[in-house]
Amino acid sequence: MNAVFYEMISEIAKNIQANKDFLTDLDREIGDGDHGINMARGFSNVMSKLNVDEEMSISDSLKKVGMIIISTVGGASGPLYGSAFLKAAMATRNHEQVDGELLGIILKASLEGIQERGKATRGDKTIIDALEPACEIYFKGINEGESTIECMQAACKAAEGGIESTKLIAARKGRASYLGERSIGYQDPGATSTLIMLQSITDVLV
Ligand code: ADP
Ligand code: MG
Ligand code: MG
Repeated sequence: MNAVFYEMISEIAKNIQANKDFLTDLDREIGDGDHGINMARGFSNVMSKLNVDEEMSISDSLKKVGMIIISTVGGASGPLYGSAFLKAAMATRNHEQVDGELLGIILKASLEGIQERGKATRGDKTIIDALEPACEIYFKGINEGESTIECMQAACKAAEGGIESTKLIAARKGRASYLGERSIGYQDPGATSTLIMLQSITDVLV
């Protein structure tokens, strides 16, 4: 397995675990209080089943992570993040190096996978509010010739802005949408876990 890829997944798992209570507290405000628990359970399964010494392409590794996430995260976020990894797996065949091109392909495919599955658009107070601006800013940076690290850092900033925007709006998708206007004032848990993953990837690069 590609060592940098493995390091990125490990970093994600570590930071999801470290933010388990934070994510769960956010979900307690506007959902059912399990987002951190769901994500930590999923990524702890991922870590116990991934083997850095196993001969496996990046695409197959993404597929394996996606399958484990689908079968162990649960809730709304499990199938959504699972779709992101599976779509990324399909898009990264023949890529054996973690570089700016690969990360761009993964970001774009993840966004597409989550949108195909969840049908949310920006402003619905979901993962998309963090991931879509992050993806846009990433490609803008790449097209302007910025380095991969700079582009990922900008993507994280964009995701942070997206999270801030979720505080101002009512949820239109997922469990929080049952609260309608009462979901205003709280940041979206899924948008927050997306930022944690983007930051983890960036941390491995710097
Ligand atoms: P559940 O709501 O089933 O308990 P989680 O708590 O694990 O699942 O995940 C909740 C998060 O899922 C929300 O904060 C939101 O970001 C995300 N989410 C829910 N529905 C959608 C959707 N249709 N598209 C994108 N993200 C969504
Ligand atoms: Mg929940
Ligand atoms: Mg739940």
